[in-house]
Amino acid sequence: MHKAHREPTDHFPQPDYLRIENVTKMYDDFAALDDVSLTIERGEFICFLGPSGCGKTTLLRIIAGLEEQTQGLIIQNGEDVSNQPPNMRDFGIVFQSYALFPNLSVEKNIAYGLENLPRVQRPSRKAMMARVTELIETVGLQDHTKKYPAQLSGGQQQRVALARALACEPGLLLLDEPLSALDAKVRQHLRTEIHKLQRTLGVTTIMVTHDQEEALAMADRIVVMSNGKIEQIGTPTEIYQRPATPFVAEFVGNINLIDAVKDQDGALGLDQVSYTGAQTKVCLRPEDIICRPKSQAAPDMFEAYIQDVEFLGAFYRTHLSVPGIGAKTIMADIGCHEFVKLEASLGDKIYVRLLPERLRTFDAEKEKVEVSA
Ligand code: ATP
Repeated sequence: MHKAHREPTDHFPQPDYLRIENVTKMYDDFAALDDVSLTIERGEFICFLGPSGCGKTTLLRIIAGLEEQTQGLIIQNGEDVSNQPPNMRDFGIVFQSYALFPNLSVEKNIAYGLENLPRVQRPSRKAMMARVTELIETVGLQDHTKKYPAQLSGGQQQRVALARALACEPGLLLLDEPLSALDAKVRQHLRTEIHKLQRTLGVTTIMVTHDQEEALAMADRIVVMSNGKIEQIGTPTEIYQRPATPFVAEFVGNINLIDAVKDQDGALGLDQVSYTGAQTKVCLRPEDIICRPKSQAAPDMFEAYIQDVEFLGAFYRTHLSVPGIGAKTIMADIGCHEFVKLEASLGDKIYVRLLPERLRTFDAEKEKVEVSA
């Protein structure tokens, strides 16, 4: 049942756990995945993040062997598994729809994988029961062991699915939008639990999600995908603070993408009238715009007018018009205490400073990061 993992030594450094090499998936002449390559370390929590149809589920299914790639290789734990059927690969999977056996109790659902192991790998009945009891405790279902799936809430069903996926101690845990059918509170709670469990077990995990907050909160690294390609791979902080493309900047978090121009020295100007250099796009998070009342105006600040205000609990999201950047408004998030100090309401003039170390610019043609912090 336990997989024979070679411990890393100086002579045998720990290998990458999973390598996806130049994977392409064609449906007729449509490329659902286009030459995707990615390396995942042992014990990492990776999120595939992207809009509907970007290819994230297809990639997960190819890793599991549930879908066949048109080209490319899947190397797991040093072994080429590209052409192996799912039952020969080492993974546990949790689907969005739980996919539990409706006629089996909680404990039988969890024991299913163990009971169906080949005879040589199958643990004794006693060891099996001990494992199932341990998993039931891990996912907090002690009071529900004899119930059937229909007698459980969505969150409880997903805990069963998680325990079932972990029963055979897989080297790789695959989570296909496991939280998306749950309501917001349960979702957040289970998200924390899965994260904790993954860290405790140290199991290499890939989760597909289209929810950027989920990816930011859970992942060690996020793989942002669009149109069958990887846009950026990075830690949550890198993805959020240093998006590589306007697509990533807009997809992850809220962002102001402002048309701007550079003068000959490369200096940025938001006032298009005053500058004649190359067109560029400036990207700036709403929380990186500092807003001050008229009494605190300084030479490095712009005038701005409050066009709209939304109260979002922990902060106010204001929409500001800034003379010189055309008809567009920019979003600025202002903490509640700061907002009170502004003593401003709709239509009022305030002063804003853009934090230069947070400004990122994209070459309009190549859409690549040009100026970094
Ligand atoms: P979602 O979040 O909506 O599940 P996704 O990023 O997981 O989206 P995939 O399910 O991987 O997207 O699909 C990627 C693309 O491949 C989509 O455009 C989809 O329509 C297409 N596709 C998937 N399966 C097939 C199929 N069997 N035949 C033809 N096209 C398919």
